[in-house]
Amino acid sequence: MSDALKSSLTSLLDFSVPELPIATEKQTFQRQQLAQWLFKKGAQTFEEMTNLPKAWREELAARYRVNPFEKTQRFVSQDKSVRYLFTLPDGRQTEAVYMPYKDRKTVCLSSMVGCPAGCAFCATGALGFGRNLTQAEIIGQILAIAWHEGFAPTEIRNVVLMGMGEALLNYKNALSSIRTMIDADALDMSPRRITLSTVGLPKQIRKLADEGLSLVLALSLHAPDEETRKQIIPTAHAYPMEDIIEALKYWQEKLGRRISIEYTMLGGINDHLWQADLLVERLKGLLVHVNLIPFNSWQNSGFSSSSRERIREFETRLSKKSLPVSVRFSRGQDTGAACGQLSLTQA
Ligand code: SF4
Repeated sequence: MSDALKSSLTSLLDFSVPELPIATEKQTFQRQQLAQWLFKKGAQTFEEMTNLPKAWREELAARYRVNPFEKTQRFVSQDKSVRYLFTLPDGRQTEAVYMPYKDRKTVCLSSMVGCPAGCAFCATGALGFGRNLTQAEIIGQILAIAWHEGFAPTEIRNVVLMGMGEALLNYKNALSSIRTMIDADALDMSPRRITLSTVGLPKQIRKLADEGLSLVLALSLHAPDEETRKQIIPTAHAYPMEDIIEALKYWQEKLGRRISIEYTMLGGINDHLWQADLLVERLKGLLVHVNLIPFNSWQNSGFSSSSRERIREFETRLSKKSLPVSVRFSRGQDTGAACGQLSLTQA
């Protein structure tokens, strides 16, 4: 089969388990067998699926592909996190990050090529928007990472949709991917260990709350006052903070779950102590945990991180006012894998 023909094939990962193809309607067990190979054993080719009849495997291979990526590159950081650069069938690229911890394996996934949100401090935002990723390209990141790292996909129990893109602007594919992650016949993850990050789109937050999934919602707030927010997050012009906070309240009423507030510490921009006080005011009545993230620099960003001292002061100010807070240092800075750094670099 030519490379061009192979590229044009649909990936099986675009299907949910009940939609997986079977040879004849009588053989519904084949769906389970396929799902086992794809999600439990992490097969990346049909040849690996040795208990399926050869003729059927050949038929599948003529119509579908498994791995949705043309090429996968790995960049290993000193702290053992690994940045993955995936080349898609149309030649575009996207990224994911694998973060091994003592007690868990976490992956940070992308939902888009680039990002339309254009946050001023984010290297992905500076790339602009390429396109939405398909379900196969989102789920495929997990499977490719497991395959390259040499373990079963089901060993990955923590997922954060915080890589490239605003997942809620790729709502349909992000949601169907999450449903495959939590399907017991697929990756069988707990929704409680899946974090979806958003820049703050009130309508989509409400819609997601109505799905009734106990996900972790992470709001990238980054500033408590409209003026600063508009300066660093273009979507703030369209969505006032009040609307976002109302949507968070709706989420909490529906799901009763704590919300993560992401706050990148930008020196001289959003790290004033009056902003810490205003943040406390803004979040009153919500069950939240604030993550202060020192800014991870990238070339020509025009921003610098707040000093360690200022970050501690800001943290203390919040915790003295009983706002749960911690400082989150990003991994993978030496390979451009840290929060806000993803920019398709080759090394
Ligand atoms: Fe997009 Fe998130 Fe970067 Fe903003 S911070 S530009 S939403 S990837």
